[in-house]
Order: sequence, then C-alpha cells, then structure tokens
Amino acid sequence: MVENYGLYDIVQMKKDHPCRKSHYWKIVRMGVDIKIKCEGCGAIVMMERPEFERKCKKVIEKAEKTSDQGSDL
Ligand SMILES: [Zn+2]
Repeated sequence: MVENYGLYDIVQMKKDHPCRKSHYWKIVRMGVDIKIKCEGCGAIVMMERPEFERKCKKVIEKAEKTSDQGSDL
C-alpha cells in the first residue's frame, strides 16, 4: 500500500510482469485511472487508483521535480 506516488515514478508492484525482465514499473499516466509501464518490455497496464495502491509494493524512485501537488491536471 503506497500513498506518496506521482507521475513518472518508478514503482515495484507485488507481482512482477509475466515477462520477468524487470521488477519495476513506471507510472506513465495519472488520472482517474493509472497506467504503469513495465520497465522490462514496455507493456502498459491500466488500473484504477484504489487497485493500484493495493497492488503497489513501494516507490523505488521518485521522478525529479515533481514536488507536491500542482501537477498538470
Ligand atoms: Zn514486461
């Protein structure tokens, strides 16, 4: 369960992508839904925010210069 995440952060999910090339995902879209991209093969998975927060294990790396709020919504 994570709360502090943002666009372009690298995250680790509880389950790796079946391609098994990488443990990490990048957040590529944050709206009502969240899209994450497998860092191994580039596959994109979309899910709703509550589902994402449940499945996300931890934030590995914060994207630079995304401070707090104020992102482009
Ligand atoms: Zn993959």
